Amino acid sequence: LNPVTDAARVIADLRELDRRTGGSNGAQRLCWGEGWQIAREFLRELLAELSIEPDLDPAGNLWATLEGDSAPGLVLGSHLDSVPNGGWLDGALGVFAGLGVLRAWKEAGTVPPRNLTLVDWADEEGARFGRSLFGSSAFSGSLRTTEIEALVDADGATPGRILAANGVDLDAVGGATEKQPAVGAYLELHIEQGPVLEAIGQSVAAVDGCVGVRRWRFLFVGQPAHAGTTPMDHRRDPGLAAAALALSVEEIANTLGGRGTTGSLRVSPCLATAIPESAELIVDLRHGQLASLEQMLERVQARASALADERGCALEMDPIWAIDPIDFDATLVATAARACRELCDSELVVRSGALHDAAEVARVAPAAMLFSPSRRGLSHTREEDTAEADLLIAVTALAVTANAVLDGWGGIPLRSPGSGS
Ligand SMILES: [Zn+2]
Repeated sequence: LNPVTDAARVIADLRELDRRTGGSNGAQRLCWGEGWQIAREFLRELLAELSIEPDLDPAGNLWATLEGDSAPGLVLGSHLDSVPNGGWLDGALGVFAGLGVLRAWKEAGTVPPRNLTLVDWADEEGARFGRSLFGSSAFSGSLRTTEIEALVDADGATPGRILAANGVDLDAVGGATEKQPAVGAYLELHIEQGPVLEAIGQSVAAVDGCVGVRRWRFLFVGQPAHAGTTPMDHRRDPGLAAAALALSVEEIANTLGGRGTTGSLRVSPCLATAIPESAELIVDLRHGQLASLEQMLERVQARASALADERGCALEMDPIWAIDPIDFDATLVATAARACRELCDSELVVRSGALHDAAEVARVAPAAMLFSPSRRGLSHTREEDTAEADLLIAVTALAVTANAVLDGWGGIPLRSPGSGS
């Protein structure tokens, strides 16, 4: 019989973390800063109770392993860092739930059939330097340190200096890929950060991957002119072209079942009495399927060109950022879904609209996630919360999934040592 994880104790740990690193403005665990160091100190205390000594990899990720009968092992994790004034559960839930699973095995005195490892990824949020998934992308090998060397935080400090103060040498972070052979499979519990689970009353869901993103800049340039003296049919108004494109983005996202956001629209000059000279619209497109994502982008580009022609404007289109959709491991997802069904009678598999460390891990090892609901869909705010009853179920679902993987339930093909990198 597999050890049972004490989910209530996990929630008590999370509340203690919140007491130490939160407050009336929310979680203060900005990566590499004092609150984050306090959070890690607390995690080290809890690991010490289990006589587990964690180690840091060259990217500052914290690894803690309960030795099992074989390797590679099952890795559970998430991130302790938060955005400034963040929520108490984002990231921390997955770390402490993972710790809870290790604790159950350790306290039961049962040696797990495989190594059981907890990982706390460094700087998932990118809230300091603007580069998200720092530690996990160093692990997967997709991080290029040259792209972050030149960044600065709000105080003008460079990553090189801040990381060095945390014992991390920016020139050496590539060495984090050496942990890859230890990861046979990876599971991450995280809050949904959206409203879907709450709306249907689901306490926990399996996650089968992360959406892909295409983020483009559209700049329309027209003719600035007087608001009162320029007849409506004599105008070349870039602001209206951008506004019409924004509405088309909504329609295209609805038609193709994706997400389209136009959160940044800048007109210049921004005056009540003048037709603007230019309008810049940033379009963020997301979809779980690559073909549909590319179709969304093609339609938005075609519409932008047509609108520029219609309104006599010049148009520039530039890519800002792109990532393809990432699929999680089908067997692990099915195992997680089965655990969800066991615990809440209904099974739900969703795709994440946000990126997570698991997406980086999935590049090099079988990975899957579980989501717990978020009250009112809110996250990255002190209002972020999840009903305790749902948290208990979600933590238990992670534990059940983890034990199923350790048992080889469903014939999970764990990654064998040296099977590619
Ligand atoms: Zn997170």
